[in-house]
Formats: sequence, structure tokens, C-alpha cells
Amino acid sequence: MEFSLAGEILSSFELHHFYRPLETIEHPQPQTAIKRAKMTLKDHLHLRSSVSHHPDDDKDKEKEKEDESTARKLFRRLKSGGKSDDESDNESPKLRSDSEAEVVIELPPAADFHVHLRDGSMMETVTPTIENGGVNLVYVMPNLVPPLTDPAAAIAYMSRLQPLSPSTTFLPTLYLHPSITPATIATAASMGIVGVKSYPRGLTTNSDSGVLSYEQFYPVFQAMSDHDIVLNLHGECPSTPSEDVAGIEDEDITILNAESKFLPTLLSIHKAFPKLRIVLEHCTTAAAVEAVRSCGPTVAGTITAHHLFLTIDNWADDPFCFCKPVAKLPADRAALLAAATSGDTKFFLGTDSAPHPKPAKQGRSGKTVAGVFTQPYAVQLVAEAFDKVGKADKETLEGFCCKFGRDFYKVKEKGIENGQDKRRIVLMRGLGEKVVKEVGGGEGAVVPFRAGEGVWSLKWIE
Ligand SMILES: [Zn+2]
Repeated sequence: MEFSLAGEILSSFELHHFYRPLETIEHPQPQTAIKRAKMTLKDHLHLRSSVSHHPDDDKDKEKEKEDESTARKLFRRLKSGGKSDDESDNESPKLRSDSEAEVVIELPPAADFHVHLRDGSMMETVTPTIENGGVNLVYVMPNLVPPLTDPAAAIAYMSRLQPLSPSTTFLPTLYLHPSITPATIATAASMGIVGVKSYPRGLTTNSDSGVLSYEQFYPVFQAMSDHDIVLNLHGECPSTPSEDVAGIEDEDITILNAESKFLPTLLSIHKAFPKLRIVLEHCTTAAAVEAVRSCGPTVAGTITAHHLFLTIDNWADDPFCFCKPVAKLPADRAALLAAATSGDTKFFLGTDSAPHPKPAKQGRSGKTVAGVFTQPYAVQLVAEAFDKVGKADKETLEGFCCKFGRDFYKVKEKGIENGQDKRRIVLMRGLGEKVVKEVGGGEGAVVPFRAGEGVWSLKWIE
């Protein structure tokens, strides 16, 4: 497993030492043929003749030609569920032409305000899939091993990501930790760090270094408020310890009510720091939606694509639907869908796309790990979910996927988006596309959400 190291915090020197140049990182996963070929998902995931290429792509036509046959082979391999040409069972769907689409919606590129892009070989596998999901701006979570608690380390991470998706804007975050002081926040602000993410200890992947109580961070929150840095909350309380069989703990907390038990904490932080912009990440309950609505305009909530589809029953017997916070009741899912499609600017897309190697999801070396991988189909999945309630229209999708998040994060006002991307994305329903069964290869392969199932199509146009 790629994240089996203890999440201990190293000194600043050690942090820098840890962030060696990409080529010297020892990848714990075997290098696959796909990675050796330096292919990106753009080359092998639903690459179609009608997809427009970015001008940068055309600069390297020679190399493109060189890679073409390999790219096509890899593309076919992915489309046929990871099987080579020889093994193909001809399951791969024949896509209809764009003109046969039942619905066509053109949008500006989307922004995804909660992504996990990992490091090392997993980073190389998943980062090139950002554009496949219709996204050109991502807010990148800091839970690497060790976590990003140093502004310079976070900036260095962005520089490793950038070459893997050159047209994408990567917004850096820090991991809230006792080593972070008001002075760290001042430095972070001057270096362009956009937010600080808080993980309750032990709750989610690589959160062993997370926080237990929030009052100790109030001086840091004050500095964040002063420097206009966003606080991102993983809004769950730790569960009652499993060894507490006698019910000694007065709280009765499990993954089912961990989020609702956290909501008073959100309200108290907001009350203490009304100017601090706070995002309640990956809302999963009707109560969370209500809590965000009850706060002032400085508080918003992200909603993932997968939580628009899932309930408890889905993850109870399927590790590929298991994430934290877990999906809740059908009524909660309905509340999320209603909030996401309401046009309320407080709710916007943060996919929490969280790749894990297939064996780790299947629990082959212990417990299954939490996380659902949606990056290559981010906007397509949202469109499909919105369509179920008759809301897959341009205005609703544009607000939730493209506009409200950028506005909340003051992307335009602060000039933090790279360049002028004039491209558009086009969503199409009914072309017969199916979610690829795996992304990447070998032991490092990642199974995307709804693998093998029908999905909307997406292409970029100039
Ligand atoms: Zn997350």
C-alpha cells in the first residue's frame, strides 16, 4: 500500500529532504508499462477523434505520432476493461457520434474544490485524468505522507503536479497541525497558500496527524481570518472507541452520526470567527446542509459527485463505494441533490476524489481503505445525478460545477487562476460511453466509481 508509513510530522529540514525531485522518488508500486510509456489519460481514456486538442499538444506532433500506436493500444485496453487486444472480449462499447447525443450542454471548464492527487507513481497516474472530468482548476488536499504542514513543501508539491496537467490550475493547502503558528499563516499567505485543511485525528486516510480539539488553534484561525485564508473542515467526530464495550464514553458516535455530531463545532468556530471563510467538506447529511445554510455567507459546503448516488446500502458490501464520511440515508442523499441543484451559492463541487490501489480497496493487506475515485468523470457524474431530478441544465450545472466555488474562493478577485483558458467543455448524454474498469496498471491500478457502467460523455472544445 502506498500510504502505509506512519503519518508522523518531520522537522522542516526533513520535510524538504523528503520532497526529493520526482525522478528520485522510490515508488512503492511497480512501474507499469503504462507509466513507462509516459502516457497520460488524455491519450488513453475516452480519446476520440472529435476531441479538440489544446494548442500545446500540437507543439509536439512528432512525439505524438511516435506515441500514437501505443496510445491507441492503451486506450483500447482500458476501454475493454484492462484486457489487451488479444484478450479482448469485445465488450467495449461502440460510441455513437456526437450528433446522436440526446442532450448536449456546453459549459466553461469546471473547478473541483477537493481533490486527492497523492504523490509518486499514484500522482503520475491520476493527475492527468483531471481534464477528463471537465475540470481545469483543482484545490489540492495536503494529506501526503508526511502531511504538508510547511508552506514551502506545499508549493513544491504544486510544482510536481503542474507538469502532469499543464493547463490545470493547482491551488495549494496546508494540513492543520500544532506545528502551524500564526507566523506560519503569514508566510503561507505571502507564498500563495489558499487554505488550511483540518482532519480530526484518525478519521480519514493519512489523518493520524490530525487535530483533536479546536480551541488550541484559535490563534491560527485568527491569523487565517486576518490573511483571508480558508479553513477546510473534515466535519466528523472520532467514533466511540471500539474497546468501550461498557458504554463508558458519554458520546455514542459511529461513522453514521459522526458528521451530525460535528456540526456544533462548525457553528462554534463560525461564531468565534465570523469573517473566517470556512468550508464544510463533503457534506453527507441533511443536517450538514441545514447547518451550512444557517451560517453567514463566509460558510459554504462542498458536495461530492459520489454522494449524489450512494446510500449506506451501496458501501455496506462494496469497498469501491466506501469513503469517509460514509454515504448516509436516501433522505440525506435527496437533501444533497436538492442543495446541489438549488442554485444556492453556498454549495459547490468538491469531488473528494481519492484514489487507492485496487488491492488496498479490496482489503488484501488488511482493512479496506476509505476513498472513492471519481476524477476522470467528475462533471459527467454530476450531470447524470442532476439529470435524475430533471436539473441537468446549463445554468444549474454551471453554478454548481464552475461558478459558485470560484466565487467563494475569490479566484477572480485574487487572480489565482492560471492564464486565460478559453476552452469550453461539452457534456453529452446517450453516446453509449462506459466508465473504464481501471485507470493505471498492475498493482497500482485504480478502480473508478461506477466502473463499467454507462456514463455521460465529455469533450473539450476551443
Ligand atoms: Zn478528502
